[in-house]
Amino acid sequence: MKDGHMRDIRYLRLSVTDLCNYRCQYCMAPEGVEKRPHSEILSVEECVEIGDAAVACGIRKIRLTGGEPLVRRGIVDICQGLSELNGLEELCLTTNGSLLPQLAGPLRRAGADRLNLSLDTLRPQRFQEITRLGSLGQVLDGIQAAEEAGFSRLKLNVVLMGGVNDDEIPDFIELTRTHPWEVRFIELMPMGPCAGWERSRFLSADEVLRRFSGLVPLKDSGVARRFQVPGWAGTVGLIEPMSHRFCSSCDRIRITADGRLKACLHSRQELKLRGLHGEALREAIRRGIASKPERHHLTEDGSETPRCMNEIGG
Ligand code: SAM
Ligand code: SF4
Repeated sequence: MKDGHMRDIRYLRLSVTDLCNYRCQYCMAPEGVEKRPHSEILSVEECVEIGDAAVACGIRKIRLTGGEPLVRRGIVDICQGLSELNGLEELCLTTNGSLLPQLAGPLRRAGADRLNLSLDTLRPQRFQEITRLGSLGQVLDGIQAAEEAGFSRLKLNVVLMGGVNDDEIPDFIELTRTHPWEVRFIELMPMGPCAGWERSRFLSADEVLRRFSGLVPLKDSGVARRFQVPGWAGTVGLIEPMSHRFCSSCDRIRITADGRLKACLHSRQELKLRGLHGEALREAIRRGIASKPERHHLTEDGSETPRCMNEIGG
């Protein structure tokens, strides 16, 4: 379905939990988030019902995210239910990868098509510092498990942080020499814990092109500008939410773990979906899509939304 600015909205990011087993410095406070009663979070059945209604409104791709979607009890059942929806073309997840050694196989068998993995550094000590609770080894095992389970064309999400991991830009690009992965550098957005960080941490994705010569442009895909070193197996993507290049091609809506539709990541505007069924639910989703703002109002002072990334689903 088209929104009010003639963008075809085909992509839903559904947050299945706001909890996480990591505490990435830019995303979560060290103490994590307050655990909410189960009743406040969408049930497995509600996730599938909302997915079904979204597909009826023209959604063709659903990404499960969070928080960390793999810590959500019932995640395999959610995938199973969604993958059986007629009309859904792609079911994806964004994960920190830590639980993939156990879950990659079950998720694949339940019908998940694609995975995006978040990996901000290739150095074990730095990984521990950024995630506070994570171990790089777990995630590397997770990547291997994902490939063994049949997930191909993995995307690795790297949030660029000046003075933290920008010295690893060439190392990440080097991964694409032999691996058929897309390494995606994402501009850090000032939200939640990182909203007050010093300016030097917020790098433009153009920095990647300045620090690494030899990248040749490919056709853009969705919100990513894409590049490749000719002859290498993988590709490089730049995701630039801080510039408005992103908004004109934004084809997504989001639903929070407590069942509120957000047509724009940074807007305060939310539409409550819980308790709605059938035509009333579809009508609410259509209204949400129609109201999608033309562009976000994210400024250097931060996002308009009081929510953190883990609540909305990045
Ligand atoms: N836990 C999963 C993960 O880390 O992949 C899924 C949820 S996480 C919120 C989704 C993505 O948002 C991750 O790639 C994360 O690095 C990114 N992210 C979180 N906070 C961000 C911020 N302030 N700016 C840019 N990206 C952010
Ligand atoms: Fe968890 Fe993902 Fe946020 Fe890191 S970015 S704290 S892994 S939700």
